[in-house]
Amino acid sequence: MTSFHMTVQSQEIVFETGALEKLSALVEERGWKRLFLCTTSHLRQNGHMNKVEDLLGEYLVAAYDEVEPHVPDHQLAVALARAEEADIDAVIGLGGGSPIGMAKAVSHELETKLGNPKPGEISLPTQQARIPCIAIPTTYAGSEMTPVYGVTRIQKDGSALKETVRDARVTPRLVLYDPELTLNLPETLTSTTGINALAHCIEAIYSRTRNPISTSLALRGIHYIWHSLLQCATDAKDIQARTRMMIGAHLAGAALASVEMGLHHGICHVLGGTAGVPHGAANSIVLPHAMRFNADVLSGELALVAEALGLGTNNASEQDLALQASDAVFDLIAKLNVPQQLRDVGVKESLLPNLAEIIIKNNTVRNNPKPLKGKKEALDLLRAAW
Ligand code: NAD
Repeated sequence: MTSFHMTVQSQEIVFETGALEKLSALVEERGWKRLFLCTTSHLRQNGHMNKVEDLLGEYLVAAYDEVEPHVPDHQLAVALARAEEADIDAVIGLGGGSPIGMAKAVSHELETKLGNPKPGEISLPTQQARIPCIAIPTTYAGSEMTPVYGVTRIQKDGSALKETVRDARVTPRLVLYDPELTLNLPETLTSTTGINALAHCIEAIYSRTRNPISTSLALRGIHYIWHSLLQCATDAKDIQARTRMMIGAHLAGAALASVEMGLHHGICHVLGGTAGVPHGAANSIVLPHAMRFNADVLSGELALVAEALGLGTNNASEQDLALQASDAVFDLIAKLNVPQQLRDVGVKESLLPNLAEIIIKNNTVRNNPKPLKGKKEALDLLRAAW
């Protein structure tokens, strides 16, 4: 690739064991006095939310602590009303991709209501939000680094569809990475959100809009994830492994931020929005199948993945290496003890044709450098994963 076009987002990243303790000082220094917190009931129960409440004191003026996976639109309406009433000047997402997505959605909706500061400015790819988002991730999903969020909306026919919004202004202005917050991340979520991070790296490497920076971030991200994920799943309290994994997740999110994703992410969004499959579980089921599908046309890029995994010999062809990479990912997922088939996560076989129909229309799927030929090919892929 000899030409590229990318946007570097303006963010402040604080990465440190115990970084959460710095939250109130960081907020104060930046002049934010009325904060709104988005999080989930698990983070309320495990004490992380209380910690943030204690640290922020009177600076925390309102909260929404029931965020459900994939950000349902009715929850966004309630959170937005609370944020508006509290007249906030920044919004915190504490947790995984869902509460961070909710924080981005609240920030974006408030921004839209405030209107354009100057005509035309909204279209700048480096625009900053007036009610910015602060992200404190506790999973490896990587949303804290990206200008993207999704909201699940109920359609007129009663079905659910996840809509994705891309806008530079939702990129979290401040990201606080504290590996200690992941010590109580349950084994399954550790594994599935870790595979999500690996998927960001792999799809960044073969993305239609890849660039040398995203490829470098993704290759290094693979290295960190590959050498720490199994250990994090086996020994949850290993802070060294948790720290390395969080660096991998950060690199994966940073790679994801400047490129378009492809087949794997598109299918996972459809499975999440329409079939209710948890995002991490969808990732661990779909990733090896998406890699296998792409192994011929994208063999050169997937051979890079194989190299980053430490696979292959001098005389292996790129296509062999690509297939070895998908087999190795499949083996890692088997060791992680996570769902490997759609039937294991409640997807009925009878739903597959409907899902295939939605998948071929999905914009992210359409961005895959190797196009899906049609519904039959989508259905074959789903059947292989079922
Ligand atoms: P999630 O945010 O939906 O959280 C899953 C579960 O993990 C929740 O029940 C939560 O309470 C629990 N949890 C999180 N941290 C915990 C901890 N430390 N201890 C105990 N429980 C904890 O899951 P996710 O996989 O992080 O995010 C998935 C969502 O994020 C999807 O909607 C996905 O589309 C989106 N996503 C967006 C981007 C982006 O760039 N915008 C990137 C990745 C994922």
